[in-house]
Amino acid sequence: MAQHSSIEWTDHTFNPWWGCTKVSDGCKFCYAEAIANRYGQNVWGPTAERRTFGENHWREPLKWNELSERNGERARVFCASMADVFDERAPVEERERLWELIRQTPHLDWQILTKRPHLIAENLPLDWGDGYENVWLGTSVEDERVVERIVQLGAVPAIVHFLSLEPLIGPLPDLPLEDIEWVIVGGESGPKSRFVSPLWVEDIRQQCQVLNVPFFFKQWGGARKKQAGRELNGRFYNEMPRVAQTIR
Ligand code: SF4
Repeated sequence: MAQHSSIEWTDHTFNPWWGCTKVSDGCKFCYAEAIANRYGQNVWGPTAERRTFGENHWREPLKWNELSERNGERARVFCASMADVFDERAPVEERERLWELIRQTPHLDWQILTKRPHLIAENLPLDWGDGYENVWLGTSVEDERVVERIVQLGAVPAIVHFLSLEPLIGPLPDLPLEDIEWVIVGGESGPKSRFVSPLWVEDIRQQCQVLNVPFFFKQWGGARKKQAGRELNGRFYNEMPRVAQTIR
């Protein structure tokens, strides 16, 4: 499914900058921070400068856009895996540049995922209106302590509102899904990964089914995530938002 990304629900990954600050328990084993540290980049925390990129990096999505136009097939871009677009310390000029890039790439669907949905509205471009046609906005929710993020996300106009319930570390029995067009669920991966119960996952799937919200099960995770796989009830759940099915 993914072309230039190892993430199952997207085709490409683009990072307008690197760096972030941990905001909740879902960030505890943040893989992005570990990668940045491996590269010797001191870009994590409220006082650290973020790492920015040059022209070649910013040209990549323009090439993907050209390819999509030529093939007549839209591609999805996950933004950002190494940062949070609505980070309080985001380099403001880079975020402006991101909006400009998104306007220049109408054949790409940008999937912007944040743990700071309360900061989305004040950082959107002036011509956002009811939402750019090629931007899906999402928020991550790991357990009930941060469930208010869902309502905050739903309050912002967007063509698709989506949830990434990963790493799922607790039950989410009462999801406010009324304004949500897509739900992704996944267990934590890595050597210190925390427990995920199949009962929590199945309960979320059933809540989605009741409200007819497309459901995507990404992974069980764990120390050996490939072996653990991504089957639930003996099958794969790869549902996508309805808008994706109509524009693809
Ligand atoms: S918000 Fe995302 S990128 Fe930032 S520290 Fe948390 S998990 Fe990492």
